[in-house]
Formats: sequence, structure tokens, C-alpha cells
Amino acid sequence: MRGAKRLTILTGAGVSAASGVPTFRGPQGLWRTYRPEDLATPDAFARDPHLVWEWYAWRRDQIAACQPNAAHEVIAQWSRGFERCRVLTQNVDDLHVRAGTDGLIRLHGSIWELACWGDCGAAPWRDEAVPLRAFPPSCPQCGGLARPAVVWFGESLAQSDLDAAFDACACEVFLTVGTSAVVYPAAGRVHHARRHGAFTAEINLDPTPASSAVDVALHGAAETILSDIARRLTP
Ligand code: NAD
Ligand code: ZN
Repeated sequence: MRGAKRLTILTGAGVSAASGVPTFRGPQGLWRTYRPEDLATPDAFARDPHLVWEWYAWRRDQIAACQPNAAHEVIAQWSRGFERCRVLTQNVDDLHVRAGTDGLIRLHGSIWELACWGDCGAAPWRDEAVPLRAFPPSCPQCGGLARPAVVWFGESLAQSDLDAAFDACACEVFLTVGTSAVVYPAAGRVHHARRHGAFTAEINLDPTPASSAVDVALHGAAETILSDIARRLTP
């Protein structure tokens, strides 16, 4: 990292765990008796928008009370310190935004943004109200039902974000941090970076499918390991 000019970091829910935001794959991932995979889908929303909005309202409440942790802070410092740094995040909590991260690509959108479910042509809008002003919230343009502007299971990522993530793989160091590395296409980026000749490292509490593909897998908490690395990089 000392000699590197281009750094790319892919982050997942584990980066926000120390802030108190539950990950999906873990004992705290359940809400009532539902699995996220059964709620974060267009079908679930079409079937029962109230139920899905209740879950999102609960998550917005939780996240509103959370602050960026040392992992977000270190990543934000690096985002400004390298000649080119890209941070590809799967997180929708915007804690990277609040930590002041440059070059951030939010692959899965933001829980603080809403969009029209009816596709009336309204551009997604920001809504940070906790609790929500209206339940369920509606579109300011057509008055129809609004949805969270996040990428659900079974939906495609924005082409501009995919292109940016693709370009970011041309780098010298690629770090994958706090992600179970099972959700494609984000998970494929580490292989792509490797083919570009990047030095690749994983930082995660547990081994993942990416562990065997990286140059070094560091198992531990992101907030501790990233802080250690930052300290060692300081001249
Ligand atoms: P995931 O829940 O599948 O995996 C989280 C990973 O982080 C696990 O491998 C776990 O071992 C690891 N982890 C937990 N605590 C950690 C810590 N302190 N340090 C390092 N690693 C730690 O999450 P994912 O891979 O991001 O993918 C699931 C999807 O869930 C994504 O699409 C994302 O949008 C969504 N999600 C987002 C948030 C958020 O915005 N904070 C929270 C939950 C889920
Ligand atoms: Zn609308």
C-alpha cells in the first residue's frame, strides 16, 4: 500500500457491524420471523408493501442512531490520501458518506433515498425522516406508493455503477472488507482485480468464498485491522 497510487476497497455489512448495524447473515439478521431474502425483493413488496415498509422503517430507526466507526474513518482517510481511491460499497446505511468518503460508489443504493414504485418518471429523492412522515410513504409527483431506492434481490445494479466498479478493478491494491462475498456481481470484483495484477486482501471476521482467491486473508474485525494497517502506514 505504501507505493500504491490506485487503491480500491469493496465493503459490506461487516464494516458497519461495530456501529451497531446488524449484518444480514448472522443471528441478528432476522426481523420477527422473516429472513432479509424474503423481504428485500420486488415480489415481497408487491405482495405486502406495508410489511416491507415496516421492516425498512425499523432498519432506518436503527441506522439513524448509529455513528461511523474506525473502519469507516480509516477508509475515508485513505479515500482522500491515495492518488485514486474507489470505495465500492454494498451497504445502504450511508455511514461511508457520513465519514466523508471520496470516490464512493453505492452499488445497492441508499436506505435514505426513496423512489416511485409506479415508475411515474420521478427522480429518486432523499428522505431522512425518522419516523417516516407518512406510512407507507408516497411519491411527491404522482401520489402513488414509494419504495426504498435500494437494489433488491433479483434486481439489477445501475449500469453506471457497474461500469465504475469494473473500472475500479484496474488498481494496485484491492481490499475486500466485511462482506460475505456471496452476492454477485460485487463478489466477482476481487477476481477481476487479481487479473489486473492487483495485490488483493480480504479482511473479515470469518473465512468466505473469497478467502482462497486473495493474496492474503486477514481474519478479525475490520475496525481493528484497518486501524492497525493505518497506523503502520503512518511514517
Ligand atoms: P453479509 O451480512 O452477507 O456479510 C457480512 C460479513 O461481515 C460476514 O462475512 C461477517 O463474518 C462479516 N463481519 C461481521 N462483523 C464484522 C466485523 N466487525 N469486521 C469484519 N467483518 C465482519 O453482508 P454483505 O456481504 O454486505 O451482503 C449482504 C447484503 O446485505 C448487501 O447487499 C447489503 O446491501 C445488505 N446489507 C447492508 C447493510 C448495511 O447497509 N449496513 C446491513 C445488512 C445488509
Ligand atoms: Zn410517482
